[in-house]
Amino acid sequence: MARLELRPNCELCDKDLPPHSSEARICSYECTYCADCVENFLHNVCPTCGGNFVARPMRPQLSWRPEEKLGLVNNPASKVRVHTPFTMANISGHVSRIKDIAPEDR
Ligand SMILES: [Zn+2]
Ligand SMILES: [Zn+2]
Repeated sequence: MARLELRPNCELCDKDLPPHSSEARICSYECTYCADCVENFLHNVCPTCGGNFVARPMRPQLSWRPEEKLGLVNNPASKVRVHTPFTMANISGHVSRIKDIAPEDR
């Protein structure tokens, strides 16, 4: 089964986003940012793909169906910290071009 990596940090401000953080936001490619960056700087525009964000689902700790080998006990969160390769100035321009277009029209 394909699965989210559950990246450990905001790719912009580097805040920790553990698997049960209610602040983690992801785009359709799993670019991962904190709610504060998404709302106040990115304006719901992914710096990489230009898509919108949704709250990252919380993977359960346990494998509630043991035969399926799911949950964090079997599929732990990634420990590889990711940082956007784009500069703040570059992201600002990108966001300005896209933010007023509804996600379904991008
Ligand atoms: Zn952030
Ligand atoms: Zn993206």
